[in-house]
Amino acid sequence: MRASKAFIPTTKEAPKDAVLASHIYLTRAGFVAQVASGLYNYLPLGKRVLKKIEAIINEEMQNADAQEVELSFVTPAELWQESGRIEKFGKELLRLRDRKDNLFVLGPTHEEMMVNLVRNRVTSYKQLPINLYQIKTKFRDEARPRFGLMRAREFVMKDGYSFHATTEDLDREFDAMEAAYKRILERLGLDFRIVEADSGAIGGSGSKELMVIADSGEDTLAVCDSCEYGANIEAAHRSAGTELPTAPSLADEKVATPNVKSIDELADFFKIDPYFTVKAVAKRAVYEENDEIVLFYLRGSDDLQEVKAVNAVAALDLVDVSEEELTAAGLVPGSIGPFGNNSVRSVFDSGLKGAKAMVTGANERDYHMSGADLSTLQEPVFTDLYEVKEGDGCPHCSGKMTYTKGIEVGHIFKLGTTYSKALKAEFLNDQGRSEPFVMGTYGMGVSRLIAAVIEQHHDEKGCRWTTATTPYQINIMVSNIKDEAQLELGETLYSRLKESGVEVIIDDRKERFGFKMKDAELIGLPYTIIIGKELKNGKIQIFERATLEKRDVQVEEAFETVMGLLS
Ligand code: ATP
Ligand code: MG
Repeated sequence: MRASKAFIPTTKEAPKDAVLASHIYLTRAGFVAQVASGLYNYLPLGKRVLKKIEAIINEEMQNADAQEVELSFVTPAELWQESGRIEKFGKELLRLRDRKDNLFVLGPTHEEMMVNLVRNRVTSYKQLPINLYQIKTKFRDEARPRFGLMRAREFVMKDGYSFHATTEDLDREFDAMEAAYKRILERLGLDFRIVEADSGAIGGSGSKELMVIADSGEDTLAVCDSCEYGANIEAAHRSAGTELPTAPSLADEKVATPNVKSIDELADFFKIDPYFTVKAVAKRAVYEENDEIVLFYLRGSDDLQEVKAVNAVAALDLVDVSEEELTAAGLVPGSIGPFGNNSVRSVFDSGLKGAKAMVTGANERDYHMSGADLSTLQEPVFTDLYEVKEGDGCPHCSGKMTYTKGIEVGHIFKLGTTYSKALKAEFLNDQGRSEPFVMGTYGMGVSRLIAAVIEQHHDEKGCRWTTATTPYQINIMVSNIKDEAQLELGETLYSRLKESGVEVIIDDRKERFGFKMKDAELIGLPYTIIIGKELKNGKIQIFERATLEKRDVQVEEAFETVMGLLS
């Protein structure tokens, strides 16, 4: 490609709302251009990167025997009614009507569409397993589109779906997909971690996220400092702990605790570790049709993990409640406790199972109970509600948990029969009986990956593309195109590299050297061959973008040296 003919509109101005490096540099360097909130045009450089990532995904999918299809982007709303997701997805679904007034939805993901494709076409266990995928535009009317390609409304996703006769076979495919996803991210040159994820209200036995490690990531991950274990904070576990504080010996009684409200005040008052206090977190759980106040109880030393709490009561959302609302519900803010509070729904963290010698609210203003034994509660509901903290023990080894930030670039999920049952997609098993397909789903954020590469590979001057993702491998910069010798060498190298299959761009623009150099740094191709004044002395320079180093090379060795860098 000739820079003089290329459409690469670089600019000094960053988008007004841009805070992330990827958003700033991908726009400034002319890879993408925003059209409206969450909508982007891909310019030639951006499109090349997209195609490179897609090619790697396609190769790895083909190696894993997954087959590419392409399903309609406009999807009939009936399918979404069949699965019940038309309500669940809510406003993220962009709905439209055709001239005959039929309702459609722009596909935000394609579970329903894929089940619809397979049902009545795959009818026997003999045709299973099957894994179908596509790389396709998705639309989600995100509440807060932001960070450029990271959270767009229209974006490109690789979405794959597998169909099986048994859960064992799904497990095998899930592992194969995990391995394929791992290879894709390795080939892209990314530092990543595969973590256990929240499976949401759908349940399912396994869900993993592929997280690109970056400070700008929206997800908090709890990872072990010595083994492979890592989980999204929303789904993280810890060991029960070995160094527990010693239990206080307090009488089983009601104690006047004037003005003692917070856990710290309570622990101070009784001179105990917060571990031996019971924390009550009140929330309003919002459901499709109604809502209710729920009390979540944990040890005072723990914090409520909201996603775990949402799942525990299968709510759409949890919102805060005011003291007035609590009082109206017959609760005593600051003294809420699990004994005698039966009118309000309560859920207990599993860390409280069998807890003794506890201090809890007495459901009476300015009173707490000491020495409480939670094993005497009437039919309590226990589940994991706690949030893993840094320093907690790893559930799999003797290591400690630490936090890191990640960008979710992929999500693989064992769906089981949720969708096949809802959409009545069945096959005949080897006994001749009808059964719903056992399914897996495998998503990857292709356009988000472009942003993730830059989040991990940039500096204050611009992008630093990895070998596998760079739009061109080599930039040949002719410093002064009026200098015939410079231009001639540039053209010779350009032809030879092109003939050798190298993706090369020649900067033959009538611009100053400094201007071209700024563009080279901003766009961030791995290597630039600088043909400049030193040509008189038989030398050119090779500029390496990752290190910003320039080194002299003899003209006769230029071609071989460049080929050596690329091999
Ligand atoms: P997030 O939690 O970031 O909203 P999600 O859980 O909604 O993601 P999935 O439904 O699992 O995402 O979609 C599969 C993949 O598609 C995600 O792992 C992510 O990489 C990508 N993706 C999802 N939403 C967007 C978006 N708004 N813009 C760009 N990529 C996205
Ligand atoms: Mg989302």
